[in-house]
Amino acid sequence: MMYKSIKKIYLFIIPRKVHYKLEPLIRSFLYFLFYRGDDFYCPICNSRLKKFITINFKSGSDNSCPKCGSLSRTRLLLLYLQKEINAPFHEILDFSPHRSLYNLLSKTKENYIANDFENQFHADTHYDITKLPFEEKKFDLIICFHVLEHITNDNKAINNLFKILKNKGNLLIQVPLKKGKTYEDNSITDPKIREEKFGQSDHVRIYGKEDLKIKLKDIGFNIKIVDYAEKFDLKEQKYYGFKKGELIFHCTK
Ligand SMILES: [Zn+2]
Repeated sequence: MMYKSIKKIYLFIIPRKVHYKLEPLIRSFLYFLFYRGDDFYCPICNSRLKKFITINFKSGSDNSCPKCGSLSRTRLLLLYLQKEINAPFHEILDFSPHRSLYNLLSKTKENYIANDFENQFHADTHYDITKLPFEEKKFDLIICFHVLEHITNDNKAINNLFKILKNKGNLLIQVPLKKGKTYEDNSITDPKIREEKFGQSDHVRIYGKEDLKIKLKDIGFNIKIVDYAEKFDLKEQKYYGFKKGELIFHCTK
């Protein structure tokens, strides 16, 4: 509550661009004052926390790290990378990464490229995922979290990812899912109706789990669908602030 009130007043006074630069400093300050503790932990910024901040979206709530802003899925992804596919990746491509993960991976991995087409996220390049200029079989690891649901021609995008992934490379995909079949309708372009039908004003579809699996398989990937939070016991899930049901489509070729 206090966090929300402070943020509201602050955003009213400070322009967005300035805020973006100031944010890490302010977060560190707020963390120092209110959120230091021993009950929870963020592996992205390596901070021990008194609590996570609950953020409410239309699609549900999430646990945000007060210090770095990481979301449940960002922390889950990092632990998955560290514990499950801990390979010495040489070439990494990350689509629209959360700022916290970008900061970490761009510092610790030498050939890390973050790409964001619409320039809303921290990124090094701004290519359209359906028109990528990278050479074939360039990347050992591609991270594509919460991107494909924005792309009208997702087949083209996935084909491109297949082309630029090395043999035996890893592609990690996450998208919002619904029960049953994938729902898409290209004639819906009104942001309000998109929000109502697909869950967000800039989404063009909502995937069904099995349909996405088939789509990826048809393009040539081997797929393992991983409910990674479930690999941790309840105490650990709470400790890391994980949410339920954030499936990772782990694709290899
Ligand atoms: Zn953090």
